[in-house]
Amino acid sequence: MRTLTDEEAKLVEAGRAVAAVVEKFAGVCERDRRPPRETWEAYRAAGLKGLLVPKAQGGHALSAFAMAHISEAIGAADPAAALTFIPQEYSMAAVARYASHPWHHEILQTLMAGERLTGFLLTEPHAGSDAAAIATHAEETTDGWRLNGSKAWVSNAAHMDEHFVFAQTRPGSGAKGIAGFLVPREAAGLEIGAPYDMLGGHVAAIADVHFKNVRIARERMVVPPGEGLKAALSAIDLARINVAAMSCGSLGTGLDVALRYATKRHAFGQAIGEFQGLQWALADIATELKAARLLTYDAAEILDRDGKAAAAAAHAKKFATRVALRGLAQCMQTLGSNGLRHDWPLARHFANAKISECLDGTTEIQNVVIARELLRPYRQIMS
Ligand SMILES: Cc1cc2nc3c(=O)[nH]c(=O)nc-3n(C[C@H](O)[C@H](O)[C@H](O)COP(=O)(O)OP(=O)(O)OC[C@H]3O[C@@H](n4cnc5c(N)ncnc54)[C@H](O)[C@@H]3O)c2cc1C
Repeated sequence: MRTLTDEEAKLVEAGRAVAAVVEKFAGVCERDRRPPRETWEAYRAAGLKGLLVPKAQGGHALSAFAMAHISEAIGAADPAAALTFIPQEYSMAAVARYASHPWHHEILQTLMAGERLTGFLLTEPHAGSDAAAIATHAEETTDGWRLNGSKAWVSNAAHMDEHFVFAQTRPGSGAKGIAGFLVPREAAGLEIGAPYDMLGGHVAAIADVHFKNVRIARERMVVPPGEGLKAALSAIDLARINVAAMSCGSLGTGLDVALRYATKRHAFGQAIGEFQGLQWALADIATELKAARLLTYDAAEILDRDGKAAAAAAHAKKFATRVALRGLAQCMQTLGSNGLRHDWPLARHFANAKISECLDGTTEIQNVVIARELLRPYRQIMS
């Protein structure tokens, strides 16, 4: 595994400072179901916005390898908090890539300055894994576009200023008709649903967003028809690597808490960490965490080198989220009944680990990607 360059190391250091703020507010934000405004401000003030935007457009053009380090640090504090600001980086990167109108360049600068918040709206109530099946309709009018439909599972829905909406311009044409639009929250006819009541991760204020005859100006189409799905999925390998890295961070926190507890807590006349049964359980977690990290950073290096890493990212995401869920359950068990209490961060991390199995493609979808790659050479030989 390579080391970080000096420039990367500075940004990763800034990311770790943001992670310290995330950690400070994660518990209270989840308990009170309030947005982590302190984290957003720390992230903006650290100058991290535009991590994936090319330098010529004012961004950092950060490598996947360095971004995974930032994601791991934030995941160690609270993976759910990251949902409120990391996906914005994918949106900004897509705006930067497809910018074709002076307004696109202007809005990109506004987003990078943190003056307006953005995020991705791809999933719909009836279309998740099968993203090409989205039905939100964008109809061209004499002076722009009119949108009708509903989006689901929108992270940070209530706090977003510029909704990056993927919509169908030619119903029935699948991916060929999908385009990407920036829709302002102030637009008449845009309605945001109540935040979902979930297992955890309430800090991300996930909700539905509805569009009822929402009219937007022509230039608000950022990604042209036919390119929308490609744009929405262009950062998917990186997103999966980031979820894997966050899961590693989260499991690392769990192991740390469990080890501290095991050396302090006594039962039957000795520290519980002296019982071999417990030692072996924690040793297994350490092995799986090491393997998950290796898969994650390997995928990041492949993505930086080749510009794509579908199977490697899928392996990393599947494995890291799986071992995080299993490992965090064991870390909670190490704390006995105390592991269930929110006085310790484990229950919050455990909920996030389950959530991470669905984010950016479920575990089953990672297997679809891996199997496709596995079978490709055999299909070629057999055909
Ligand atoms: C915390 C959180 C935040 C999110 N934030 C956003 C966001 O900001 N923007 C956004 O657009 N989306 C967001 N999502 C949505 C997320 O991307 C989808 O939930 C995910 O793609 C899965 O879609 P689905 O839930 O509709 O499941 P479905 O697609 O309905 O799948 C249901 C089940 O069927 C399985 N399945 C589906 N297809 C196959 C197949 N081919 N083979 C085997 N099994 C299959 C799935 O693995 C799953 O187990 C978020 C989700 C979560 C949990």
